[in-house]
Amino acid sequence: MTIVTRFAPSPNGQLHWGHALSAITAHDLARAELGGRFLLRIEDIDGPRSRPELADEFREDLAWLGLEWEEVPTQGTRIASYAAAAERLRGMGLLYPCACTRAEIAAAAERIGPEGPVYPGTCRHRTGEPEGPVAWRLDVARALERAGPLAWTDAIAGEQRADPLAAGDPVLVRKGLPASYHLAATLDDAADGVTLVTRGMDLFAASHTHRLLQALLDLPVPRWHHHRLLLDAEGKKLAKRRGSKALSDHRRAGEDGRAWAQRLRAGRWPAGISLQNA
Ligand code: GLU
Repeated sequence: MTIVTRFAPSPNGQLHWGHALSAITAHDLARAELGGRFLLRIEDIDGPRSRPELADEFREDLAWLGLEWEEVPTQGTRIASYAAAAERLRGMGLLYPCACTRAEIAAAAERIGPEGPVYPGTCRHRTGEPEGPVAWRLDVARALERAGPLAWTDAIAGEQRADPLAAGDPVLVRKGLPASYHLAATLDDAADGVTLVTRGMDLFAASHTHRLLQALLDLPVPRWHHHRLLLDAEGKKLAKRRGSKALSDHRRAGEDGRAWAQRLRAGRWPAGISLQNA
């Protein structure tokens, strides 16, 4: 089977060194095999946070790093497929509307999961139409009854038993948006023929949910490769809002992107940056 990897940035902030490591990892894994393909997918369904003009900056950053890619359609052009999948899950009785706000969830949550306060299922058994805009959540317990036990494989962490319950019932359709990241990325990876989903460890927990969605929607099951994250001097994940320098700053300053990419490949990180422990 030909290896197909992808880099799937969201145009809601500039790319930083963490993104560079992700893109280089996915690119090199594809290039290591004859005929391997490396895809770029712009994940632009973030509503008002999406800044489409950033996509061009991303392309320039990747070219600056010396990468070559095939670009697949942006998420904004695939909304019909998200709606169809949501409809199918609704028809299976697995989605329910939820009008809770972030603050309400934080106040009601009984535990903190891999992605923050775990939704306690407030709206799961609510009857009647909720007022105002709603998100649609997946009833994970019910979905698991239908799907049965599931497993998935990470190239580094090995065989995993899927545990989507740990993160609570995820939102699959966001309030006022066509889909959530979970639904859109899972459908797109299948549509794009991705065989090795390559991304940072921060999305490891999401893969449990994605594995369940694949089972419910009869999608092919890829392998995953979650790479360790780059951390700043305080040991926190790099983020533009925390002052991490953007790749475009280095690019505009006339620095040599290919040389930077070679340094990252050799595990030589920029000043003040380190790799998360294994
Ligand atoms: N669009 C996501 C992000 O920029 C990445 C999604 C993924 O790789 O699955 O964080």
